[in-house]
Parts: sequence; structure tokens; C-alpha cells
Amino acid sequence: MLDITQLKAFDDRLCARASLLTVEVNAARRHAGTDLRSETSDLKDAASAEAQAVVADAEVERELAELGEIRAARERIRNGTYGSCVECGTEIDLDRIGAHPQASRCLKCQLRAERASAARAARRAALHR
Ligand SMILES: [Zn+2]
Repeated sequence: MLDITQLKAFDDRLCARASLLTVEVNAARRHAGTDLRSETSDLKDAASAEAQAVVADAEVERELAELGEIRAARERIRNGTYGSCVECGTEIDLDRIGAHPQASRCLKCQLRAERASAARAARRAALHR
């Protein structure tokens, strides 16, 4: 069980990470709106600028997903369920939360969820072949 000092420390880390991600997402959005076009004329390589935009989009998407996870983790801190696996209720290993403060599942449930989502993706790919 995490004590109040530990919870506060994780909340601070999550909050700092969320601020950083928000700054990055906003910067990426501004960049996509303006700078990208001017870069294109400099580089005279529209394809490369487009490729960069796709990478930036994927990055923003990942950052937004992480922001969502952080928001959920801070919600769990407030409602007292932080540190317990959302699937099985087991206490999540402290090393794991230390490395991923937004982790919502214990390692076992996380691996199972990843396997399930990989299986779903494989099924989708097979259907669309
Ligand atoms: Zn679990």
C-alpha cells in the first residue's frame, strides 16, 4: 500500500509530465499549422515534409494517449485506487509504478491486454486481406 508521501510524489511526477506533454502537443500543433509549409519551400522536398508531418501526427497521438493515461492515474490517486491493478485489483509492483507512474495494470494483466490487442489487430488484418 502506498503512503500519502509516495502518492504525493507520484502525483507531482504525473503533473510535471502532463505539463511537458501539453507544451509539446501545443508546439506540434502550431508547427503543423505554420512552420511546415515554409520548411517545404526551403527544403524543396514536399514528400519529406509530408513524411515529417505523418511522424509528428503519430507523435502527437502518442502524447495525447499518454496525457489521457496520466489524467486517469491522477483520478485514481484522488479516489484512492492508485497503485492497484484496474483489472484484477492486485497491488502493482512498486518498481513498475516507479518506471511508469501512469500504469493502470499489474504486469500480468498488462501483458494479457497487449496480447489481446495484438490478436485483435491480427484478426482485423486477416479480415482486410
Ligand atoms: Zn492485474
